[in-house]
Amino acid sequence: MTMRLLPAAAGSGVVFRRTDLDNFEIPATGRNVAKVSYATSLMRQGVLISTTEHLLSALIGMGIDNVIVEIDNLELPILDGSALPYVEAILAVGIRQQRRRRETIRVLQPLEVREGEKFIGVYPGSGYRISYTIEFPAPIGVQKTCIDLATETYGSEIAAARTFGYKADERKLRDMGLIRGASTENAIVLGANGPENGPLRFPDEYVRHKVLDLIGDLALAGRRLEGHVVAVRAGHAMHTALVARLMKDRSAWELAHVPVEAPAESQPEADSGYSEAALAGA
Ligand SMILES: [Zn+2]
Repeated sequence: MTMRLLPAAAGSGVVFRRTDLDNFEIPATGRNVAKVSYATSLMRQGVLISTTEHLLSALIGMGIDNVIVEIDNLELPILDGSALPYVEAILAVGIRQQRRRRETIRVLQPLEVREGEKFIGVYPGSGYRISYTIEFPAPIGVQKTCIDLATETYGSEIAAARTFGYKADERKLRDMGLIRGASTENAIVLGANGPENGPLRFPDEYVRHKVLDLIGDLALAGRRLEGHVVAVRAGHAMHTALVARLMKDRSAWELAHVPVEAPAESQPEADSGYSEAALAGA
């Protein structure tokens, strides 16, 4: 399969384009969220695009608001289970700063979603801060992290964190059709004695990956958030439930126009000739 990222006009957001289906387009918005279990999928008029979260996370993390994602498959490539290959491909071609000021969703009032022991909320605050707490069976246990995307580098702190799974669950998940070729190449595989394909990239790689997923799922709000997100034992379903709440409760936020600082790693690009990032997966 082949996936390409193409430049898009200011204000167009992120749009997936299925090149295997007459270039059918599916905008990455909460309206198109289809089903959410172990990954997030979008659907429009019956056309699916699945496992969107790692790419959307990389785009938000790199400060990219507008892009066309061409793909000839219904599922995005899992790559190494993190967002790092996306970040590297984007950095390799560079980012163009557009003239129009960025629109953000500035949170004005708290919004909270609770389901049993799972919780997610968003609160007013400057920048885009995320606090995440996970609790999983051993060897993970409880992990917490807090990141401020305004001051910390997504590329070095979050992008490389890989998805993970328990070896004990593998057969069950496979029977449910939920794992298509999960392996030590594209996930941390947890056995009884810890990761079977160590060493970890961060001591708290698990919670960092949940932050990565959260950023990707909240991208479906359509614009970058300005506020503080708190998540406890959440997952894709809770993340997208918060997006749905945001979309429903229009009085809880306002569209703010903020000047975009040039990303530190971006390269200036000539106005003639676009460049594109090409990613090939198996
Ligand atoms: Zn993930």
